[in-house]
Amino acid sequence: MATDIRTVGVVGAGQMGNGIAHVCALAGLEVRLNDVTEDRIRQGLATINGNLARQVAKGAIGDDDRKAALGRIRPAVDKAGLAECDLVIEAATENEEVKRKILVELCPALSPHTILATNTSSISITRLAAATDRPERFIGIHFMNPVPVMQLVELIRGIATEDPTFEAAKAFIGKLGKTTTTAEDFPAFIVNRILLPMINEAIYVLYEGVGSVDSIDTAMRLGANHPMGPLQLADFIGLDTCLSVMQVLHDGLADTKYRPCPLLVKYVEAGWLGRKAKRGFYDYRGEHPVPTR
Ligand code: NAD
Repeated sequence: MATDIRTVGVVGAGQMGNGIAHVCALAGLEVRLNDVTEDRIRQGLATINGNLARQVAKGAIGDDDRKAALGRIRPAVDKAGLAECDLVIEAATENEEVKRKILVELCPALSPHTILATNTSSISITRLAAATDRPERFIGIHFMNPVPVMQLVELIRGIATEDPTFEAAKAFIGKLGKTTTTAEDFPAFIVNRILLPMINEAIYVLYEGVGSVDSIDTAMRLGANHPMGPLQLADFIGLDTCLSVMQVLHDGLADTKYRPCPLLVKYVEAGWLGRKAKRGFYDYRGEHPVPTR
């Protein structure tokens, strides 16, 4: 029997974690939101409220729905606050050491029936599962950004993931009104295996002086009909996450075609991580984004 998921824990209240909490609460599920500090959780809740209010303004949901959804999200200041969850989704920083530490800390706090999932963009599900006490109840549930808007969720089984875990995850995504696609556990799965090398190539085009930020983004928006230019998209994803995914592809597939562009490394070293840092390939501190090169 697949577990019926009613209470969802989310570890990491950043752009993905708060989006996951948002869609779960709106679908009527109870949510427990965790991050390293209470302040980060509060910031996550404020973002969720702002995004729900935007949906109300657009007429997509009613104000009662917004209030009810917010009422279903409770802060979990430590991992013990996630004990009663049927499913816990780890959506913390894209760094294997950080994720392993979280999983090791999390397992003793959870009920044996709890399914554990990771929202990683690229890291091996099998390797992360090995850091837990329940590889058979561990799965990759990869939401896309922004979670409330994007229809797709990739499901990735680790080598030990059992069928009831997969079925429960699939039913959970169905409850959120989203569509699943299934990927094998290879570096960056499907979407990012294809998307991130394109973004990295756009950064090489900038690095080599073939085009400016504006000409590259205009070229791909109008020439390939992409809704966002690749550099705009990189800023949106977060340049630290982009670099991490390229490093996982490079290490995991051992092919030089995946080498991260040195300019991407430089931006990350500068702390210019994109929209979340208010500066990346564009500067977001003014009224309109301004290209930084
Ligand atoms: P983010 O930087 O916005 O948020 C990460 C959050 O994790 C931060 O709030 C940080 O404080 C928190 N965190 C770090 N260590 C923690 C710990 N020990 N316990 C609890 N919280 C901790 O990053 P994000 O963009 O939300 O990415 C989160 C995950 O989602 C990553 O694995 C990323 O690869 C994946 N993802 C990102 C995107 C995207 O477009 N940004 C898309 C799909 C998946």
